[in-house]
Amino acid sequence: MSDNTPIEKPINFIRHQLNDDLDSGLHKSIQTRFPPEPNGYLHIGHAKSICLNFGLAQDYKGKCNLRFDDTNPAKEDAEFVESIKNDVEWLGFKWDGEIQYSSNYFLKFYEYAIELINKELAYVCFLNAEETREYRGTLKQAGKDSPYRQTSVKENLDLLAKMKEGKFSEGECVLRAKIDMASPFMCMRDPALYRIRFEKHHQTGNEWRIYPMYDFAHCISDAIEGVTHSLCTLEFQNNRHLYDWILEHLDGFNKPNRPHQYEFSRLNLEYTVMSKRKLQQLVEDELVSGWNDPRLPTLSGLRRRGYTAASIRDFVERIGISKVDSMTDMKILEDAVRDDLNVVAPRTMGVIDPIRVIIENYPENQVETLQAPIHPQNEAMGKRDIFFSRELYIDKADFAEIAPNKKFKRLAIDKEVRLRNAYVINATSFDTDFDGNITTVYATYDPDTLGKNPTDGRKVKGVIHFVEASKALKAEFRLYDRLFTLENPGKNDHFEQLLNPNSLVVTYGFVEPGMKDTTPEMAYQFEREGYFCRDNQASDDLIFNKTVSLRDTWK
Ligand code: ATP
Ligand code: MG
Repeated sequence: MSDNTPIEKPINFIRHQLNDDLDSGLHKSIQTRFPPEPNGYLHIGHAKSICLNFGLAQDYKGKCNLRFDDTNPAKEDAEFVESIKNDVEWLGFKWDGEIQYSSNYFLKFYEYAIELINKELAYVCFLNAEETREYRGTLKQAGKDSPYRQTSVKENLDLLAKMKEGKFSEGECVLRAKIDMASPFMCMRDPALYRIRFEKHHQTGNEWRIYPMYDFAHCISDAIEGVTHSLCTLEFQNNRHLYDWILEHLDGFNKPNRPHQYEFSRLNLEYTVMSKRKLQQLVEDELVSGWNDPRLPTLSGLRRRGYTAASIRDFVERIGISKVDSMTDMKILEDAVRDDLNVVAPRTMGVIDPIRVIIENYPENQVETLQAPIHPQNEAMGKRDIFFSRELYIDKADFAEIAPNKKFKRLAIDKEVRLRNAYVINATSFDTDFDGNITTVYATYDPDTLGKNPTDGRKVKGVIHFVEASKALKAEFRLYDRLFTLENPGKNDHFEQLLNPNSLVVTYGFVEPGMKDTTPEMAYQFEREGYFCRDNQASDDLIFNKTVSLRDTWK
């Protein structure tokens, strides 16, 4: 193995290929690229591709560039370009050199098209869509040659120029490669290289009337940029033949060290959809609040929800790279963020569904300051002030009139419990409203139990969290669940009807006063409740998004 071969990462088939190509001297260094089409926001599937491409470049001390694959004027938008740049940087990667746009190469693509015509390897075809389909044949049956296949070079050059000048209407003709109408690979049966579009392009405006097809533009862009390994998802496996054919038939690129394409399986996640078309539909039909809705698998949604970049990179490591198509359990993603946040998230207390507690033997008008660790396993993170007084809030679920069973480790009448970071209390009575809901619990505290067990040997097993009422801050909590009710909603034609009606539940409660100026997106562990972060949509209100529960409770 060569010096710059990393050894610490598991070796997958792509790393084997890179090692081979460096060892044989085919390439002196590695170059990859991440080529998003700017027609939507990036999602967690793209993160797999980003981590793979940029990660290999980092590990092999090579380069990875960011290229906007903007060859389709109709669906693309500058807003998407900005969001994609943001998301790649947020994930922790920096592209090599300037950002590239396929549209920068429009003139070159055109010149390569002329080269193919001159070699009698491309022709302008006027078959309409239906005829083209008919001529293409089927998987079982060879196609037949287009009548325009024999047009002379001179005439084809003239026709392509006219296409470019806008002399033909959309759909009237296309430029096709002349390959093999009997190829077992449908994509090799004289595929289209250029089509006519009268749409304005977000980078080149109205300059062009013809736009290159993905297969033509992608391999040439890779070659122009010096990409060595062009990594894409499995559905492009057959297109590799066309990728190779195009580069092998262009003089400038037909060299052993030209780019080669390698395919890996795409990420599919359970209970969500990933295709940009489907995500766009959810956004446009206002079934979610936007591309950054915290329930979406978009990177901006995950980030707003409190996922860290480190946890997403770790998730991608955990799932690995292979050629087997599969569905990934959401639990793997959730475990990755839990494991990260467990280490980094400061602890705090928040009451999500509050009821009042009156400590009857505590003096009125007195507020006591206590200290609690910011992270019980990491003393270096220091301590925070919390408060205690006669009036507190606890969570409704932490009180029962009568303990339902012996395992109940919460507060009940005549049953003691410890308030986290504070005293042991014992409930004596409670009030209810007209509907019988408990509103206030009356309790007494044992002043001799701060930071120690009762001296008379009483055993207090339960610990519940609380916030002191006079200093507590009102907060909104947004609790999220799976967006869909089915494991694979994307398979269904009406996937939008399979939304989980409880994917967002909003509650109002209280947090510690120290949460006043928390930074959006910064994760906290609300003890016993889960990981939360402040919402990142500009607002003075305290709104906390639940990132994930402390343990996997979903079934
Ligand atoms: P979508 O189907 O969501 O529109 P796409 O493949 O059309 O996705 P692109 O913008 O073309 O989206 O993708 C940019 C890169 O990200 C491509 O190299 C593509 O293979 C990769 N990619 C997209 N989706 C996934 C996924 N689910 N898993 C892994 N890689 C992906
Ligand atoms: Mg695409």
